Amino acid sequence: MMEERFKGGCVCGEIRYEIDRIFDVIYCHCNRCRRGTGAPVVVTAQVAGDSFRLTKGSPTEYRTSASGRSFFCGKCGTGLYGEYSKQGHPLAANGRYFSVRTGTLDEPEKVSPQIHQFVESRLAWFDTTDALPRVKGNTLPHPTRRTPKSL
Ligand SMILES: [Zn+2]
Ligand SMILES: [Zn+2]
Repeated sequence: MMEERFKGGCVCGEIRYEIDRIFDVIYCHCNRCRRGTGAPVVVTAQVAGDSFRLTKGSPTEYRTSASGRSFFCGKCGTGLYGEYSKQGHPLAANGRYFSVRTGTLDEPEKVSPQIHQFVESRLAWFDTTDALPRVKGNTLPHPTRRTPKSL
């Protein structure tokens, strides 16, 4: 848990947001994240529903599933975050939580990944030799219950 005010936004500055607390930071190697970002892997910050707010602009949305929507700047195309409505999810305050792409933060250096998920989809040439835990799919253990290289 990172208790600090984080700010971020898109390339053109049309959309800006703030985060009060980050619960977890995840490398996702899944095919959907790869295609959606055009990058080999994406790093997202997991944020409870009451800890994220837009401070400027209104992003365009794309529905990714029955419970999820992806938001991007309609002007410059920057993909910013996903919003998920899940009652009972440990992060779901107000019945929802956010997954924010850390590359859109003003100070991404401060928010380092804590775990790899969907490692079975990792591109073979994308070498990751850090000591972070690795899990298949999105079966993430809670941050307090992790040991390095758990898979
Ligand atoms: Zn923009
Ligand atoms: Zn993913």
